[in-house]
Amino acid sequence: MQTIYLDNNATTKIAPEVLEEMMPYLTDYYGNPSSMHTFGGQLHKKIEEAREKVAALLNAKPEEIIFTSCGTESDNTAIMSAVESYPDKKHIITTRVEHPAVLNFCKHLSRKGYRVTYLPVNKFGQLRIEDLLKEIDEDTAIVSIMYANNEIGTIFPIQEIGEILKQRNILFHTDAVQAVGKIPIDTNKLPVDMLSLSGHKLHAPKGIGALYVRKGTRFYPYLIGGHQENGRRAGTENTASIVALGKACELAAKNIDDEVKYLSRLRDKLESSLLKLCPDTRINGDVNNRLPNTTNISFEYVEGEAILLRLNEYGVCASSGSACTSGSLEPSHVLRAIGVPFTAIHGSIRFSLSRYNTEDEIDKVIEIMPSIIKNLRMLSPFGRDKLPKECR
Ligand code: PLP
Repeated sequence: MQTIYLDNNATTKIAPEVLEEMMPYLTDYYGNPSSMHTFGGQLHKKIEEAREKVAALLNAKPEEIIFTSCGTESDNTAIMSAVESYPDKKHIITTRVEHPAVLNFCKHLSRKGYRVTYLPVNKFGQLRIEDLLKEIDEDTAIVSIMYANNEIGTIFPIQEIGEILKQRNILFHTDAVQAVGKIPIDTNKLPVDMLSLSGHKLHAPKGIGALYVRKGTRFYPYLIGGHQENGRRAGTENTASIVALGKACELAAKNIDDEVKYLSRLRDKLESSLLKLCPDTRINGDVNNRLPNTTNISFEYVEGEAILLRLNEYGVCASSGSACTSGSLEPSHVLRAIGVPFTAIHGSIRFSLSRYNTEDEIDKVIEIMPSIIKNLRMLSPFGRDKLPKECR
């Protein structure tokens, strides 16, 4: 059975060009880039080439890019660096809809005595600038706000927030893990001090990420040890994956405008068809300002997990707004934060596309989905009529 992979916000396929580029560094060129001999030392040049390619995608300077092991490490590093660099400041501002890489790190810091403000969002997942302004004070060490949300795709006003924070001299980090490679980002114009990205969201392998740190920003390393990455991130470089990330960024930069158009056309076709063919369906997020590859749809009166299982029988991969953890259905913190009703959260499905999806695949999903939903609704104990009124 053919797999139809529509879960690209979870992870992406390694691009064939990326795999080809990284292979020699997993096989023949296995040296340590810090070695004095040519065999190892020659890898240093490849790492610097990759750094230039990552920088080019962001319109940054190569020396502003630090390679890390993943998006989570980049996020943790950015926040930790701020609190280490400004030891007198004990306040962190973030939002309620961040990825756990930021949310749980902030929770960890609050247990260590830091004060964390979690900004609310409205029903589209948008932030109100007034809410941010109210919370900034002398004690604020850093504001960390994601560029685009992984579940609903809503894009935050990073430019506007950055300008406000720059005037007040407050460090600004954005978790751009879901945005880099999907929409153009120009750090030359964008007033952010730090920005996180992750290779496996843009067709590089898992286990490689980067942190952009604007020149002149106070920085304190998170991993402490050797002198790699100019003393900013210790640990022997993951050369093959760094080369891969460089190639993935080069590919993204080359095709980004066409891909935005291609992905939004397919996504919109999928979304509008499902809304038309399946009654009692709603879109979660901001339809006017979101990632081109993402749609999050709630199918009322059905369990998202059941939909996923049915889709799985057809080889279709997507994800749901509730994760089955320790036997209970834990509803998504993002959908709760935007006020999606209980029943709609449990029936929510995220489809996230990539350049490798075809129109035929989208047509196939449009063909099978209405009967999946209809059949599940007939079986469901949450059938519309049986639901308590307040849940409808
Ligand atoms: N931030 C966001 C918005 C994400 O979507 C993810 C991964 O899903 C991460 C951070 C973590 O990235 P990684 O899996 O590379 O640690």
